[in-house]
Amino acid sequence: MPAKLIKGDEVAESIRADLANELNNLYEKTGLIPGLAVVIVGENPASMTYVANKEKQSRKIGFYSQVRRLPEDISQDALLEVIAELNEDSKIHGFMVQLPLPDHIDERTVLQSIDPEKDIDGTHPVNMGKLFSNEKGFIACTANSIMHMIEHTRQPVYGKSAVLIGRSNIVGKPLALLLLRRNASVTICHSKSLDLSEICREADILVAAAGSAELVKGDWIKPGAIVIDVGVTQDGDRVLGDVEFEKAQQSAGWISPVPGGVGPITITMLMQNALEAFKQQIEA
Ligand code: NAD
Repeated sequence: MPAKLIKGDEVAESIRADLANELNNLYEKTGLIPGLAVVIVGENPASMTYVANKEKQSRKIGFYSQVRRLPEDISQDALLEVIAELNEDSKIHGFMVQLPLPDHIDERTVLQSIDPEKDIDGTHPVNMGKLFSNEKGFIACTANSIMHMIEHTRQPVYGKSAVLIGRSNIVGKPLALLLLRRNASVTICHSKSLDLSEICREADILVAAAGSAELVKGDWIKPGAIVIDVGVTQDGDRVLGDVEFEKAQQSAGWISPVPGGVGPITITMLMQNALEAFKQQIEA
């Protein structure tokens, strides 16, 4: 029997409805609207589409939404000034800087300049440290989305073998910690890992976030496994994931499609974090 699909919009829908309700209730109580901003540098087509979707969805739910579109050749100092403005702007309760940044800009310096209380993508070291030490903080939206997708299957995670392909700060590393919290046995693979296919074959939960089109072959999938495909590669008019979808679907128990899988939930997680930042700031 082919795998059940984990559709991003289905997972995101009920979270969006809760967010809209909570936002309304808070507005009735305080008369305030939570504000969310995204900073984008340059014109990377995938990032531009993603940012446009964030703006559209956050407005639809009722956020005050700002997008700061900055030229590719902006200096690092000028970008840091924009971030300093957003840190001080009382209308903006949370914001993120869309990655990747152009080569002349030091990503680490930029991400560390975001006020941790407004860091709704969970990329500041303070928030990463909180995740590491099991404290409440903002969690990277992609990792959080993947966890929601796994939970959506209602399959036990406790004691299961989870294999993550990719060790980035926004996917593999935070997700490993989230899965450990739920008592999975976690293996993180990367571009230097040997015997990737053998490691994948043992996975009850397989998350592919390498950004390498169809890297994971259908016969690497353990029967019944949960497969979350995070990778996005543009191939002409097509968008490909990291998993050979049709073949993997024959063995997997659950599988997420690309597009239509992780992406829609990631935007919802960003809004959830923005609402949380708003609540913390109005209570402070
Ligand atoms: P990244 O480039 O920072 O990290 C990629 C990771 O994959 C690295 O750890 C690298 O070692 C590993 N890797 C690369 N090739 C490999 C291979 N052949 N075998 C094993 N490991 C390999 O990328 P990222 O920012 O973590 O994003 C990963 C992918 O996920 C990209 O395609 C990106 O577009 C996509 N993404 C999607 C969403 C979404 O919401 N849908 C969000 C974030 C990232």
